Amino acid sequence: MPYPSIESHNHPSVIDPPQLDLSIVVPIYNEAESVETLVSAIADSVQETHLNYEIICIDDGSKDGSTKVLTNLARRRTDLKAVILRRNYGQTAAMAAGFELAAGKVIITLDGDLQNDPADIPMLLAKLEEGYDLVSGWRKNRQDAALTRLLPSKIANIIIAKVTGVVLHDYGCSLKAYRAELIADMNLYGELHRFLPALAYIEGARIAEVPVRHHARRFGQSKYGLGRTIRVVMDLMTVFFMKKFLTRPMHVFGLGGVISLTAGVGMGIYLTIVKLFFEQNIGDRPLLILAVLLILTGVQLFCFGLVTELLMRTYHESQRRPIYRVRNVFGKQ
Ligand code: UDP
Ligand code: MG
Repeated sequence: MPYPSIESHNHPSVIDPPQLDLSIVVPIYNEAESVETLVSAIADSVQETHLNYEIICIDDGSKDGSTKVLTNLARRRTDLKAVILRRNYGQTAAMAAGFELAAGKVIITLDGDLQNDPADIPMLLAKLEEGYDLVSGWRKNRQDAALTRLLPSKIANIIIAKVTGVVLHDYGCSLKAYRAELIADMNLYGELHRFLPALAYIEGARIAEVPVRHHARRFGQSKYGLGRTIRVVMDLMTVFFMKKFLTRPMHVFGLGGVISLTAGVGMGIYLTIVKLFFEQNIGDRPLLILAVLLILTGVQLFCFGLVTELLMRTYHESQRRPIYRVRNVFGKQ
């Protein structure tokens, strides 16, 4: 048969590349001392579940020898892929690079510094099986500095929950499990990986949160300080205000413009009638100033709506630009 029949489309094995059960995605930036222990711990934990899996470590431009450790490890192990990025692009971009390569039906993410515990993976998978699309870890006993990390996170978590309408205790926990189709076409940038639950929720995902273990950093140091919390909140504003108000900016600004213009013109007509038919002086009336203001504002808002509409279109088009570049991939293909 020269062409696959329609039926054969229903048998993925005929056309599609083989799918794995599970991909574990780990961003690595200067974690040389942790990598080997972590990869073994992940493998030990996942092998308990008897699933077909792959571990994908993304080296995000490390400068401490992590790259060498990873590539050597990927040459030795059959369950590890090492993706080497050209430079440091940030945790979200590194995760996006992992998602792009992941062949698993389920994707698990965790940090490369041993702060998340791979032993929690089977528990996340079990929760997913209960009928969720996304299971997010909750670091109930988070082992990080109280003042510079826990407090700002707490505030950020409250704001994020309010703005997104998805209520989690801990958006920042990297240990999460997703059904792969959920993240197949998300455009990630900035600090967005933590908003995956919220973005997924908009797409109708069923989301659960489960308490997970958390350990203090054993090696190296955190890549983040207070600055990240601020960037996180800014990203949140950008995404959600854009999603809510600016997907149709013309509807928001244009409507304001039309209302303002109508009110201004109405007042103008009233004043004209008063002047022409009742021969009253309108030069000293506050209403005249208001009418002129409203007309000017109306015209400006309307034009602003048009401009933002154009901008939004350009913005959406430009989303296709990659947020990272891959230098090399090592390990089984
Ligand atoms: N990371 C990364 N690129 C960066 C910064 C961090 O890939 O530019 C990785 C890092 O190696 C770790 C994870 O992201 O695996 C979380 O970073 P970190 O542990 O510094 O954050 P914290 O746990 O302090 O929030
Ligand atoms: Mg950490």
